[in-house]
Amino acid sequence: MAHDILVGSHISSAGGLHKAFERGESIGCTAMQIFTKSNRVWFEKKITDEAAELFKQAAQRSPIKSVVVHAGYLINIGSPKPDGVKQSVSALLDEIRRCEQLGLKYLILHPGSHLGSGEEAGVVQVAKHLDEVIEKSDGTVSILLETMAGQGTNLGSTFEQLHAMRERSTHKRNIGYCLDTCHIFCAGYNIATEDSYQEAIKTFDTTLGLEHLKAIHVNDSLTPCASRKDRHAPLGEGHIPNATFKLMMNDKRLINIPKVLETPSDPEMHLWAKEIKMLKAMID
Ligand SMILES: [Zn+2]
Ligand SMILES: [Zn+2]
Repeated sequence: MAHDILVGSHISSAGGLHKAFERGESIGCTAMQIFTKSNRVWFEKKITDEAAELFKQAAQRSPIKSVVVHAGYLINIGSPKPDGVKQSVSALLDEIRRCEQLGLKYLILHPGSHLGSGEEAGVVQVAKHLDEVIEKSDGTVSILLETMAGQGTNLGSTFEQLHAMRERSTHKRNIGYCLDTCHIFCAGYNIATEDSYQEAIKTFDTTLGLEHLKAIHVNDSLTPCASRKDRHAPLGEGHIPNATFKLMMNDKRLINIPKVLETPSDPEMHLWAKEIKMLKAMID
């Protein structure tokens, strides 16, 4: 039943947060990801009550049944530098508050970079600061730690590391995961064949628990498996075969999880419209 499937892409909310809905609907989204502020600045002016209301009304009317939020790219709660961490914690708390205002449950976060302090120290920092922000929140928002490709000192490129972050937290209920197909592939989880796809999902389940997986980024990869790079490709133009995306679209364990594209697109979003159609058509 293609109409029940939660699939879409990252959608711009330029000109007003509620505008994302009509944009997403115009290309066939039933799920979407948004930023609630520019992803490249630390802070932005508060969301007005009026803007939040418009957003909630649009959400109610929309065929888009799932909206996930991606946090800004400057945030690094794994940093060993006190100033950087302080700024990151405030910015992350602000991101959570914006989600609370809009009535959105899931905030996707890049776990962070240890910047040379080492993986263990980085994981400890991440868990500590997750607790710090969750304690100050109203508890309605969950942070989804994203699987990363493993560039530089980025944390979160192994399932074990992501597990350790959640395990160390005292607020596990508000921590889940977001799986990015390009990132896990580049981190070394080969999903290019049916066997390897099954193996990777099984490993995810035994290490992290599929019940904590709340969002999927559907991206092809320009670079090969284990390249530790993060270069998204349009579906069918990278190293992950479309057969893998077909397996994923038909995977009963993942059926209720929103799947959003972050592939390169054009201003009119024609490429995304085509890919969304293609993903829906893959469902048997
Ligand atoms: Zn991301
Ligand atoms: Zn990426």
